[in-house]
Amino acid sequence: MNSAAPESLIAAIERQRMDADIVCVGFGPATAGFLATLSKQLVNADGLPAVESAVMPGMPPQVLCYERADDLGFGVSGVVTRARALRASFPEIEKAGIPMAATVSEERVLYLLDPHGASRRSPILHLADKFIRAFKFALPFEHDALKLPWTPSFLHKRDGMVLSIGQFMQWAGAQVQSTGTVQIWPGTPVAQALIEGDKVVGVRLLDQGEDRKGQPADGFTPGMDIHAALTVIGDGPIGPVGQQLDAHFGIPEGHHKRDWAVGMKFVVDLRENTSLKPGTVLHTFGYPEPEIFGFLYVHPDRVASLGIFVPSWFDSPARTAYRYLQHWMLHPYLWCHLEGGKLRSWGAKTLGESGRRGEPHLVGDGYARIGEGSGTTNVFTGSGVDEAWATGAQLAEAVLELLKAKKPFTKENLEATYVQRRRASWVDQESIVAEKSRDGFQKGVVRGMVGLALAGLTGGRFTLNGDPAPPWKRIPRLEEYYRGRISPKEIAKLRHECTAKSVSLHGALMDKAGWPAIPFDGRLLVSHQDALLMGGKVQAPAGYADHVVFLYPELCEKCGTKICIEMCSGQAITPGEGGVPTFDREKCVHCGACLWNCAHSLPYDPERANIAFRAGTGGLHSAEN
Ligand SMILES: Cc1cc2nc3c(=O)[nH]c(=O)nc-3n(C[C@H](O)[C@H](O)[C@H](O)COP(=O)(O)OP(=O)(O)OC[C@H]3O[C@@H](n4cnc5c(N)ncnc54)[C@H](O)[C@@H]3O)c2cc1C
Ligand code: SF4
Ligand code: SF4
Repeated sequence: MNSAAPESLIAAIERQRMDADIVCVGFGPATAGFLATLSKQLVNADGLPAVESAVMPGMPPQVLCYERADDLGFGVSGVVTRARALRASFPEIEKAGIPMAATVSEERVLYLLDPHGASRRSPILHLADKFIRAFKFALPFEHDALKLPWTPSFLHKRDGMVLSIGQFMQWAGAQVQSTGTVQIWPGTPVAQALIEGDKVVGVRLLDQGEDRKGQPADGFTPGMDIHAALTVIGDGPIGPVGQQLDAHFGIPEGHHKRDWAVGMKFVVDLRENTSLKPGTVLHTFGYPEPEIFGFLYVHPDRVASLGIFVPSWFDSPARTAYRYLQHWMLHPYLWCHLEGGKLRSWGAKTLGESGRRGEPHLVGDGYARIGEGSGTTNVFTGSGVDEAWATGAQLAEAVLELLKAKKPFTKENLEATYVQRRRASWVDQESIVAEKSRDGFQKGVVRGMVGLALAGLTGGRFTLNGDPAPPWKRIPRLEEYYRGRISPKEIAKLRHECTAKSVSLHGALMDKAGWPAIPFDGRLLVSHQDALLMGGKVQAPAGYADHVVFLYPELCEKCGTKICIEMCSGQAITPGEGGVPTFDREKCVHCGACLWNCAHSLPYDPERANIAFRAGTGGLHSAEN
């Protein structure tokens, strides 16, 4: 089993220590909500501290935030949002001039039929497709798509906003920093929380000057320890500090993090004569595979964000996102809008889809968890940014209350302030409605859709059941998945050819299963490799250990599906010697999909896979996503 540098090896070099009052991990919407609320209230109008720092008496509390990405706003997201929490923080948000922001003007939900007959559809879906085609003259049907006559109320983003998460987060970061009361440090990954007994006392930053295996090399500098009375963890769904706390404290009885999706998106310049108006929102389902959902949001100035979600309950052992995204774009309904467009930027990121069921212990002595890593994302309403922001803002109010009352950040005090606010809020109430709404998908798409509709009609009281299983329990062998379409002999031949070329297998499998070749045009339809290179958008500073680690190589040697290779969003995981994949930091977009796309659980923990996703630098270098 691989491991990072042991403390004994680095004992000779002193680890620096710094003291702060509050330290935050990650600068996503959750932490932005926390800091935006807190920073405005740390200093009075007369310039004197509203509350006093414990580490710098006479000064306002020292608040530090560390973000692993190269800069603020290098995240990946849609976004369409009702912006309830965002408006509560910034009532004038619509007039703030945030680049790429638009008010929602039109919403459409579309069922996409398969124009090629290459997707894997159940008999009932085939029947539905036949019916739709037979009666298309009487239905709102065009370009192989059926437009639903209305947008279900739970999905509606009426009066909401279309945003670029990158542009919005850069703007939010500037608002927070302009208060002068908090510091945000990008390019600074947090390696771990510092835990003494069951109390979190701060964080340790990532060691620098290591080789890929985590051994000290030239210029080795141990990461600094930041001690703080409160550690705020807002590191998202795949954050290493959140994972560490889950492993240390466990998660509440009956909770689990088994539902995931990878979202992959393009930012596109639409052609000059596009008919799509700013604020247009399209949601799709049914194609390229029935399990894959899609979105297209239109920003001002002919720019669109578009992409797909590939969920963990899509039981394909070759569930690649990049090629599926291109087939989705080429669907006749979407292509009539996208033809003539040009790629500006792209990215991928994992979503934690367990929602309330994935909620960890929200607080403990010295720590509080906010945002998606704390189970905020609501997959029923298709909303995560607003919920993450809201929980950050709730924590800030709680922290101010405790600071003013001079009460310590104990589990009990944080429960009585932060958790209580969260439980009383719309975030929590809506998460109860959402909790079981998508369980039906565990047993098939049609069942899932019926369950979703039932939950929508009954406010979550009724839905169809289905027990979420860890992703690796659901991954069938390639031979099983392609039974009747590609023979085991053909699969063996393709596997042999792809291993010899050191490339993933999914392209060859999709070709064989009848998917047409992608007509690359060098503008919008570019190869995966070209997308990675375009604009030098993936960065990997030298001197850091690999953040993706195959924990038990012997499990990889015996692994038949190697779904980690097939699913990798950046082609960073490729076939390696003796059956153990290789990882290339230079191509990793930090989407975190490998964390849950592994076919084997750990021998000692059935809830965790054979891949570790640790703290790391670099990744996508774009603030447009
Ligand atoms: C393709 C896609 C489309 C989406 N569409 C929508 C949509 O239309 N509407 C909507 O509301 N939501 C959407 N979401 C979901 C939404 O983006 C998330 O719910 C939201 O970003 C969660 O915010 P967060 O702050 O909790 O976490 P994140 O946004 O994940 O932010 C966590 C931050 O922590 C940083 N971090 C992680 N580990 C460390 C570490 N060790 N040290 C320092 N920093 C660290 C990360 O780099 C990141 O910046 C979409 C998501 C995706 C991927
Ligand atoms: S990491 Fe998981 S999926 Fe990848 S080869 Fe190893 S066991 Fe298989
Ligand atoms: S290796 Fe990097 S790009 Fe590939 S799945 Fe893992 S995090 Fe995503």
